[in-house]
Amino acid sequence: MTPDEFRRYGKQVIDWIADYQEKIESYPVLSQARPGDVLANLPAHPPEQGEGFEGVLADMDRVVMPGITHWQHPDFFAYFPSGASGPSILGDLLSAGLGVQGMLWATSPACTELETRVLDWFAELLGLPERFRSDGPGGGVIQDSASGAALAAVVAALHRADGGAAGRDGIARRHTLYVSSQTHSSLEKAARIAGIGAVNVRVVDVDPATLAMDPAHLDALLAEDAAAGALPVMVCATIGTTSTTAVDAVPAIGEVCRRHGVWLHVDAAYAGVAAVCPELRGINDGVAEYADSYVTNPHKWLLTNFDCTTMWVADREPLVGALSILPEYLRNQASASGEVIDYRDWQISLGRRFRALKLWSVIRWYGAEGLREHVRTGVRLAAGLASRIAADPAFALLEEPKLSLVCFRPRWDGLDGAEADAATLRLMERLNASGDLYLTHTKAGGRVLLRVAIGAAGTTGAHVDAAWRRIREETAALAAERTP
Ligand SMILES: *Cc1c(COP(=O)(O)O)cnc(C)c1O
Repeated sequence: MTPDEFRRYGKQVIDWIADYQEKIESYPVLSQARPGDVLANLPAHPPEQGEGFEGVLADMDRVVMPGITHWQHPDFFAYFPSGASGPSILGDLLSAGLGVQGMLWATSPACTELETRVLDWFAELLGLPERFRSDGPGGGVIQDSASGAALAAVVAALHRADGGAAGRDGIARRHTLYVSSQTHSSLEKAARIAGIGAVNVRVVDVDPATLAMDPAHLDALLAEDAAAGALPVMVCATIGTTSTTAVDAVPAIGEVCRRHGVWLHVDAAYAGVAAVCPELRGINDGVAEYADSYVTNPHKWLLTNFDCTTMWVADREPLVGALSILPEYLRNQASASGEVIDYRDWQISLGRRFRALKLWSVIRWYGAEGLREHVRTGVRLAAGLASRIAADPAFALLEEPKLSLVCFRPRWDGLDGAEADAATLRLMERLNASGDLYLTHTKAGGRVLLRVAIGAAGTTGAHVDAAWRRIREETAALAAERTP
């Protein structure tokens, strides 16, 4: 493709995306495709001859769009939001346009140094501690995902706990990792991959009311395991769990970690970005004093296209010590000088995209004020929805939302727990099948709950009003079908 052809088709692609943004509300939120529908529309074999680009754009409409669930639809309330925005898309396009591979400082100094500066900016925007800044012993890095960041943190913690023995010789004795029933599954996955083993992932009790990790039980487990000859490697505390946005008591957990000399990883994948608002920074209490590593995802609630996980460590040495291997073909003067950061040593893979461009674009386009405005809108809309749920006797609200996730269930008078859970799931399926909105569920306190996660760039009060209307309508319709 020549530069002229690229210009022509590139403009068509941008127009196509802008048209999509304009008409996104005309699509059903959840794809109505059945298994195999998309495959059936795709040729079984690749073309022998190149066929130009028109066909790709035509097939986007004909083949791909029917199989798309519209994550940027303002009526998308499922899982957590998957942020996107104009400046983020354009920043990512610039990254693709440059096509650089930023594994080493030397392979594109700007790719490394822009990332370093943007992570320092972002730490400042979130009010994170000085010791996460790149001009001290710690520093920030963009990872592909909170899951990849968790694995990197686990191997760094392992390295610090046993002085590099596991990396060198393999895991000889029992190593343990501490989570709660509410911790994201990526921590168990990291323990499996790192060779710690799922059996050595210790599940700390949670307070049944708040679902927050019990620091006293953590303390007891750590003491018990150490006495039995195990080597405790890491504790993962969560700020904003995936299920219900429960917040672990990082100050108390951190105190326990310090006493036992164990690495504290803080997973704030969804919630952490809320700290752009000074009035919400309380969620990060304890992080400044105790966290060895901290993760949040601009690619969830902060308008930045996947993939963009920001991770900071208080001390980069164990991370780099665990992950740095220097084959001859990567040797270079800049690395040898010790004056530069080689981010390949901060992550699992060697290669890395120029992801800082999209976060830089987002921060510069919105500014701190614009980012705060986006978060405050989500918080305000969630609070408004929660107050209407709380005021409606047909529904039970789990709790006042901490941020922009609302968990609740219809009461289904006259049904027992299991029947009511089944009815709640049926309600969710009917709502999602209607295409009018998309929401998902969780289980807490032994009951199935619906989750409404607010945070798409285009979601307004009118969208939340309409969603609440549809939920009440469909709930009433289901109840009426049961009692003819
Ligand atoms: C979403 C989520 C993750 C996983 O995020 P990825 O970036 O998709 O790996 C991890 N932890 C928590 C608390 C999450 O909500």
